[in-house]
Amino acid sequence: MALKQFKAESKRLLDLMINSIYTNKEIFLREIISNASDAIDKMHFTSLTDGKASKDFEIRIEADKDARTLIVKDNGIGMSADELENNLGTIAKSGTLDFKQENATGESSAESLIGQFGVGFYSCFMVADEVTVISKKYGEDVAHKWTSKGEDGYEITEAEREDCGTTVCLKLKEDGDIKYSDYLDQYTLMRLVKHYSDYIRYPITMQVEQSKPSADGKTTETESVIETLNSMTPIWKRRKSEVKQEDYESFYMEKFMDFNKPAKIISANIEGAVNYSCLLFVPSEAPFDFYTKAFKRGLQLYSSGVLIMENCERLLPDYLGFVRGVVDSSDLSLNISREMLQEDKQLTEIAKNLEKKILSELAKWLTADREAYEKFFTKFGMTLKFGAYEGYGVKIPKLKDLFVYYSTSGKFVTIKEYITSMKEGQTEIYYASGSDVNALRSLPQVTAVCAKGFDVLLMTDNVDEFVVKLMGEYDGKKFKSAQSENLDIESEEEKQANKAKADGARDLLNEMKTALGTNVTEVRLSNMLGEYPSGLSAKGELSIEMAKVLSAMPGNEKIRAQYVLEINPTHPMFELAEKLLAEDKAKFGRLAVLLYTEAMLTVGINPENPAEFVKLINEFIG
Ligand code: ADP
Repeated sequence: MALKQFKAESKRLLDLMINSIYTNKEIFLREIISNASDAIDKMHFTSLTDGKASKDFEIRIEADKDARTLIVKDNGIGMSADELENNLGTIAKSGTLDFKQENATGESSAESLIGQFGVGFYSCFMVADEVTVISKKYGEDVAHKWTSKGEDGYEITEAEREDCGTTVCLKLKEDGDIKYSDYLDQYTLMRLVKHYSDYIRYPITMQVEQSKPSADGKTTETESVIETLNSMTPIWKRRKSEVKQEDYESFYMEKFMDFNKPAKIISANIEGAVNYSCLLFVPSEAPFDFYTKAFKRGLQLYSSGVLIMENCERLLPDYLGFVRGVVDSSDLSLNISREMLQEDKQLTEIAKNLEKKILSELAKWLTADREAYEKFFTKFGMTLKFGAYEGYGVKIPKLKDLFVYYSTSGKFVTIKEYITSMKEGQTEIYYASGSDVNALRSLPQVTAVCAKGFDVLLMTDNVDEFVVKLMGEYDGKKFKSAQSENLDIESEEEKQANKAKADGARDLLNEMKTALGTNVTEVRLSNMLGEYPSGLSAKGELSIEMAKVLSAMPGNEKIRAQYVLEINPTHPMFELAEKLLAEDKAKFGRLAVLLYTEAMLTVGINPENPAEFVKLINEFIG
């Protein structure tokens, strides 16, 4: 029989296929196994509708190192000569899609062809230089053999095969840069099946060599046994009542290579616009590369038990990037044999649904196991906050109740809890922001707010204050930074007394401002500084912490907040300042710099010239 040519577009596709579409050669095995599984599905269905008992379905892998052949055999529905011709002879024709109907869209570019037709079988040619398919269709007497060496074309002849089903035989390419013979190695094959096809519903078997102790127990001997390589039922498809917590945990640890048990497990079978099952995990520790570009976000995506994508990023919004797990849906439209997803609608739908599901699970977790939730939040809370910050805060309504902040009350509180336990007469939500809880707690302004009986949220993530600014308020209560210059927590009497003092110190404050020049916007008295001689607050929208975050970004080095230097009139340093102003103006100027630099230090800003600062301290100590 003469060699038949592939159709023109098929040739182009075959070339594309071999050279560029699949980046990962090893997926060829997944493709053949998936086809075998589909064929068994059809056989299974047929035998059910025929009323015949279904046979023992099986996909058998055989590797022959001497002949360099890898064989995948199934006892599925098989293909007739016509089907071999149509399904394998024309690449741009998938047995599962209707060519004519799809073509009616008028698109004819290679991309659209790739998009429309399954060409998974042809991935064989990435590793084999000759492919033989022997198949016998269910209900027919004759079997047929399809042979091809790739781009040259193919040949179909009659052949021998006892039962219906299909045998695909790959003659592997010669070893070179790539060691194709690896695909004949028992352990490689076991690994590939486990990795890509573990959840195929039918047993994938192979003869494997196993070592066992000899009869006398002194040596070991090898024996050949037929082993089933896949576990068949995905853990996420098993009934929850049948799966133990440990099973989920070890599945997670094995699959996602984590030494720690997951902190939270979410499993669900969703039936709706798109049906899918998911099994998700919140890790107990952030992976070491979590905050780097190297970290691969995304969930494993399965279509009816077949792994089609290792890290499907589209399934999770960035801010839930810490979630690991699998999603399995039988509703996905796939193109080019499962490597790329063509139809986005279902994916988008699943992603939307998953986001909602995860957020509601987190909310439940917060009330059900507060301690575990707080631990989780210290690890991943920052990413959630970034989610709130993105898109000018569109997600704030969904996220704000998931935030917990450590507060001066000595525990984590949600904003709602903070408001519920607000003191009578308190109208604002006080917060302070900096890099460390302890440093924040001892800030003079924080101490002053606490002294009034108010609790302060201590925020230590860079993104915190930006999110707070976007939130603006919660349940009608405004957020107020304890470090802002118009804190306004004094009583009327205190205000009066302060004003009188400030009037008396007007000259001194002006002179200090002059001495400090553009470093400060204002110098004023404050009676909230406790044991400190001076403190620093910021005027306007840009807080000290926000300015720090922004100025750490390249190109922003010059950004700084408008500093207000606060002077404590009850501190001995104040008296010294008054004295120096009258007696030694130059030394007064140096004292102003000392007080300013000290105030900077309390908020974590280092002096520009530390040596000068040390000199100053010594001058005043001495
Ligand atoms: P897809 O599986 O995406 O449709 P493939 O190129 O992998 O595309 O396969 C083309 C067609 O060949 C399949 O749709 C199926 O009809 C047929 N086929 C492939 N392998 C087998 C098999 N083992 N048994 C029966 N039919 C098969």
